[in-house]
Amino acid sequence: MIKDVIASARKIVVKIGSNTLADQDGRVNTTFLEEFASQVASLLKNGKQLVLVSSGAQVAGLSTMGKWARKQDIHYKQALCAVGQVELMSAWKRAFALSGRHIAQILLTREDFGDGLRSLNMRNTLFTLVDEGVVPIINENDSVSVEEIKIGDNDTLAARSAILWSADILILFSDIDGLFDKNPKEDDSARLITEVSDIESARKIISIGGNSVFGTGGIATKLDAAELCLAFSIPMILAHGGRARALTALTEGSQQGTLFIV
Ligand code: GLU
Repeated sequence: MIKDVIASARKIVVKIGSNTLADQDGRVNTTFLEEFASQVASLLKNGKQLVLVSSGAQVAGLSTMGKWARKQDIHYKQALCAVGQVELMSAWKRAFALSGRHIAQILLTREDFGDGLRSLNMRNTLFTLVDEGVVPIINENDSVSVEEIKIGDNDTLAARSAILWSADILILFSDIDGLFDKNPKEDDSARLITEVSDIESARKIISIGGNSVFGTGGIATKLDAAELCLAFSIPMILAHGGRARALTALTEGSQQGTLFIV
């Protein structure tokens, strides 16, 4: 089913979480980025269009700066993201260059999505970049988004971006294989739920382990993202981004995940 939904989709938004693109030491995993870029390149060659939502600014900032004297206040985090975003995009640029693709950076805030004119400009920019064969890479503009006004997690950002661009599908890559009926890290009998159409009942039946180490969202933000997408009839897939060539594997039907679809 996932395979069929991807096959019939032309405009694809893929979100990669910090945990997926960082290695165990919290550094940007360049091998992962290169492999991912080559999978994107072959999808593009096959006529698909793709927008990427990439987390990882904070992780990249931390690994670049090492220990900072500052505490974990919001200004510290914003400064770290300002440093890390450069590292992150340099890594993506190198990775996509190997596949002969240009990338573009788009940093957005919650306010941007609430403003009609800004939204229109964002949408036009996305359309133009994609038409030119460039891979747009979206992140939250963390250094200007204080706690009260930020989107806060890239699952929601990815859903909003998918809606803005009128995507045909959103794929959220995380460090779990999808939605389970129990916590798979604690319970061997946990069963993967392969298809969900009712988010409210999914919220009731699932129980899942704590949030991953680097990412902001847990399963709750993934369900929120699915709810946003389904309201616009955009199917969403939640899958493990760390599996071998996960994007291609989903496309070919050799990897499982959870499909949210109305
Ligand atoms: N924008 C944050 C970053 O790049 C990540 C938010 C998230 O992981 O959901 O570090």
